[in-house]
Amino acid sequence: PLVLGIESSCDETSVGIVRGEHLLANEVASSVELHARFGGVVPEVASRAHLEAIGPTLRRAIETADIDLSELDAVSVTAGPGLMGSLVVGVAAAKALAACLNKPLYGLNHLVGHVAVDLLDHPDDEPARPIAKPCLALLVSGGHTQLLKVDDITGGITEVGTTIDDAAGEAYDKVARLLGLPYPGGPVIDRAAQQGDPKAIRFPRGLTAGHDMVKHRFDFSFSGLKTAVARWVETRRLSGDEVPLNDVAASFQEAVADVITAKAVAAAQFHGITHMIIGGGVAANSRLRGLLAARTASAGIELRRPRPALCTDNGAMIACLGAQVVKAGLAPSGLTIAANSGLPVETVVLPPAA
Ligand code: ATP
Ligand code: MG
Ligand code: FE
Repeated sequence: PLVLGIESSCDETSVGIVRGEHLLANEVASSVELHARFGGVVPEVASRAHLEAIGPTLRRAIETADIDLSELDAVSVTAGPGLMGSLVVGVAAAKALAACLNKPLYGLNHLVGHVAVDLLDHPDDEPARPIAKPCLALLVSGGHTQLLKVDDITGGITEVGTTIDDAAGEAYDKVARLLGLPYPGGPVIDRAAQQGDPKAIRFPRGLTAGHDMVKHRFDFSFSGLKTAVARWVETRRLSGDEVPLNDVAASFQEAVADVITAKAVAAAQFHGITHMIIGGGVAANSRLRGLLAARTASAGIELRRPRPALCTDNGAMIACLGAQVVKAGLAPSGLTIAANSGLPVETVVLPPAA
């Protein structure tokens, strides 16, 4: 099926077009620079940027894919989770498009899109590799840190673990800020860490010991780590010593990568799952990718890592999930859908309004 997908859940306005498992276009406009001086995404700023970007992005995607809109089988859009003021822009655009083309409209789950996108990551002349049933999805971004058991991409998803406070990317952004580094912090810390010693400072690994392992075995916590880094840096500054930025970056990054990869592998083993897929902006992190590759390999788990451009928020993932949903013959959500900022991960497709 030929499907156009719209994504606007956070700070990326994006439109993707796919034919089945083949990527035809993926246009992304990010408002990340507008948020830089605030050190994080400002919802009102993101919302206005989506309004300005949605029209041109849609036009560019249609041009790039070189398709006739009348050929579309469906329009799909991120219905949630995400920032309400951002989601509504994409949903309104998708409704307008579906209404004037008289095409079915699907409101989809953003998180599941991050998993589905792996189907698009193959050379043009090769068929897509199917997503194993079940597989474990590790989603790590500025807004999410989740382990999902995926039995069926179009409707069999269960949450295995999540963060009880900050998301992994949020921790990167906050630590960068307290080190005086620019936003977004992930890429900057990743680079600084290359020059540092990951063993220089032993920062805490959240929820990995004692009673926490009973209740939160596969959950994450990063706010204690952030506080530990802040305290360590503050102590240094008070005593008049220079702060070894690269060592702090490397040691912080090691703590994040260690705990995420250890829990992801343990969760897969606990549930008897032999395939893993990663997604989200933090999945671009060099240490996380490296350590996860090593640990999954020694555990006999097959790891799939979509290329970084498909790991961050994009419309192609929503178009791709849309095509799978159309293939599965699920009912369209219809033109009366509403964005849901807290959409549960179990809801892959918004049900038609009663
Ligand atoms: P959502 O949570 O809804 O997916 P988002 O916009 O926060 O939204 P992404 O765009 O996927 O998600 O990811 C952005 C996050 O990824 C930021 O927190 C950024 O610091 C982090 N990030 C990007 N590159 C790296 C990297 N190399 N290492 C660590 N973190 C990174
Ligand atoms: Mg983003
Ligand atoms: Fe995302």
